[in-house]
Amino acid sequence: MSKTQIIEKNQVLGVDVGGTGIKGAIIDIKTGELLTERLRVETPQPATVEAVTAAFKELVNLLNWKDGLIGVGFPAVIQKGIALTAANIDKAWIGTNVETILSQATGSEVIAINDADAAGIAEMEFGVGKGVLGTVLLITVGTGLGSALFTDGLLVRNTEFGHFEMKGKIAEQYASDAARRNSNLSWEDWGMRFNRYLEMMKRLLFPDLIIIGGGTSKRYDKFQDQITVNVPIKLATFRNKAGCIGAAYHAYQEWSKRNPA
Ligand code: BGC
Repeated sequence: MSKTQIIEKNQVLGVDVGGTGIKGAIIDIKTGELLTERLRVETPQPATVEAVTAAFKELVNLLNWKDGLIGVGFPAVIQKGIALTAANIDKAWIGTNVETILSQATGSEVIAINDADAAGIAEMEFGVGKGVLGTVLLITVGTGLGSALFTDGLLVRNTEFGHFEMKGKIAEQYASDAARRNSNLSWEDWGMRFNRYLEMMKRLLFPDLIIIGGGTSKRYDKFQDQITVNVPIKLATFRNKAGCIGAAYHAYQEWSKRNPA
């Protein structure tokens, strides 16, 4: 699809690169709707630059997306397209320009943002956070713990609240879904850990609302009894689709800024 069609049709491919899967769907950025099925390929292990780029290209080809715009949510701090961290992907990503690498591989223009920030944008634009003022914190629970912080709807980019120290560990090594699986924790024991994590977030930020997203939010019934933190909690509307929706929406906004009419 050509750049003109992007504007006419409001369609952007949204891709969410996660620790275990790379997911993608074509998104109507006016409504946030998925216009295709959400396809998934495995995140290669180790998640080197070459291997992830090849998997990304495979997904883009499966969705038959050519010469269009792609928004990618990437599990790293992203500044001006460059990855500054790499917690759950190969360290070789640090210092690379994710946008340039993925654009060259696919022939489409790629605009990158942190994956949790992408999920947060989707929820604030189209989901459970729409119209909510004050401090809204979205936490994505999956291989890592991702965070997106909004104040009166404005995103404070690249917060890394999964990386606080808790009980002598990085918080995501203590309270992510990977931590639950690696330590073979019951949902109840893990739920208590996650609640302790949310208690810490409350002491630091006093959010008006916490949104829980990511793959694990689908299992909320298994641990909701342990979540006693005194902050309004809502589940993400789009659960693990939010990353694709938000990455596409953000790419469109950013592309429009970079290409004023
Ligand atoms: C990364 C974050 C990312 C989160 C969720 C963390 O390990 O540091 O940048 O948002 O995982 O993927």
